[in-house]
Amino acid sequence: MRRILWFRRDLRVDDNPLLSLGGEVLPIFIFDIDILSALRTNDRRVTLIYNALIKLKDSLQQQGLNLALFYGKPLDVFQWLLSQGEYDEVCASGDYDTYALERDRNVSHLLPFTYLHDTYIFTPDEILKSDGTPYQVFTPFYNRAKSLFTAEHMRHYFPSDQKLIAFDYEPLHILHATLHSVSVLNLEAIGFIPQMLTTAQLSSPEEKLSIFAEKIENYSKNRDYMALEGTSGLSSDLRFGTISIRKVLRWLVTQKQSEVDTEPFFRQLIFRDFYAMLLYHFPHLSQQNFRYPFKGIPDETYFHAFCTAQTGVPIVDAGIEELLQSGEMHNRIRMICASFFTKNLLLPWQWGETFFAEHLNDYDAASNILSWQWSAGTGVDPQPYFRIFNPYTQTSKFDSNGTYIYKWLPRLGHVAPKTLCNENLLAPLSLSHYPHPIVNHKNSSYRALTYFKAIQN
Ligand code: FAD
Repeated sequence: MRRILWFRRDLRVDDNPLLSLGGEVLPIFIFDIDILSALRTNDRRVTLIYNALIKLKDSLQQQGLNLALFYGKPLDVFQWLLSQGEYDEVCASGDYDTYALERDRNVSHLLPFTYLHDTYIFTPDEILKSDGTPYQVFTPFYNRAKSLFTAEHMRHYFPSDQKLIAFDYEPLHILHATLHSVSVLNLEAIGFIPQMLTTAQLSSPEEKLSIFAEKIENYSKNRDYMALEGTSGLSSDLRFGTISIRKVLRWLVTQKQSEVDTEPFFRQLIFRDFYAMLLYHFPHLSQQNFRYPFKGIPDETYFHAFCTAQTGVPIVDAGIEELLQSGEMHNRIRMICASFFTKNLLLPWQWGETFFAEHLNDYDAASNILSWQWSAGTGVDPQPYFRIFNPYTQTSKFDSNGTYIYKWLPRLGHVAPKTLCNENLLAPLSLSHYPHPIVNHKNSSYRALTYFKAIQN
């Protein structure tokens, strides 16, 4: 059997089902022009992927395999590979978002395509209601997932004997007319500027797990406080597959054996599966509301203020600064910002989703789209439309001493924490280098409620 092993969301050797297949193999990775052409040249994620690929290439080399790298359209790459040699199949881990499914379908017309299960805990058809339809509410999905979870979901895949298919290795095979062949593999060769990453972003997922081991006991207590860094920080690793989800689960079992309450963390991992399952079964959700004809009210001025951290609402602007400067964003802050965007500003959730997609290091179509729809109140299992986060109350609950706000908005260092938590104290101030709030919470919530009530009736 001669196989092409196509690495995509599984950029690792450890515990990778692709490498357990055996036979003659050609491992490949494709820098997909269709995806890259939409990105800014300083996109941090391309550096993250590049770093992961260098590690992957090294680890494969230790097993006698060599990763072939391509820059082009996946279909062109496969056509070219088939013109160079004979292959029986292409194997890859399942990738279930709308673009990925379409891409893989096209490739499968050229070569038999074998999907392996890797990225999520469950396959998208594994947790269904008794009538065979997908769950639309998280809690019953979660309960069913727990009842069906077995040791097999934590199985460790070990590499089996593999022989590399002879292949003419260039550092980068470029199948794109506008670029010339390069002799050194680097990001500039594909038009990107390498980005500086933080120590946390450079650390391995195993290092993150060992740091998180000290925090998991207090996960449910601390996870909402942005300044406490009480979460795992694993989302980008799970996104790019630099750690296997099964390894995280096995680690969780060892924590449970030490009497740690692992359920709150496990629940979040199941949320990730829930969203992937939903987008797989309801692909139209990537653009369309699941419920309610809520379109939002397009307003370029509000949108610009939001995207440039100039809303005058400190917790929101601090969150956007974190996103723009680091590509990271705490979950509670994502919720506060998305609520402010879709409710207080009444902007279309699709605009916010696209903005986050441009900047989040851990950007994942399913989690991002479904979370935005949840915040807008338009999705499956949505937040009720009348529940509107008050950003000032959220600040007093989760950043009462302003640590997070001061970190990302140092120009507010002279403003007392109690002012950051109270719109009535903040709004009358004239602060140098910081705008007045673009909306008043009470008035803008009332506007949103009126709007929502009108479209629900
Ligand atoms: P932890 O709290 O340590 O959780 C462990 C893992 O569980 C995470 O790494 C993640 O894979 C998963 N997880 C945790 N919370 C959620 C959740 N609410 N929904 C789905 N999975 C979750 N997550 C993404 O991975 N990519 C996105 O593009 C994304 N966009 C979001 C957009 C909005 C508007 C909101 C409200 C949430 C979004 N999330 C997204 C979910 C969540 O914010 C991040 O997964 C989390 O902040 C990552 O930090 P962590 O790894 O420290 O999480």
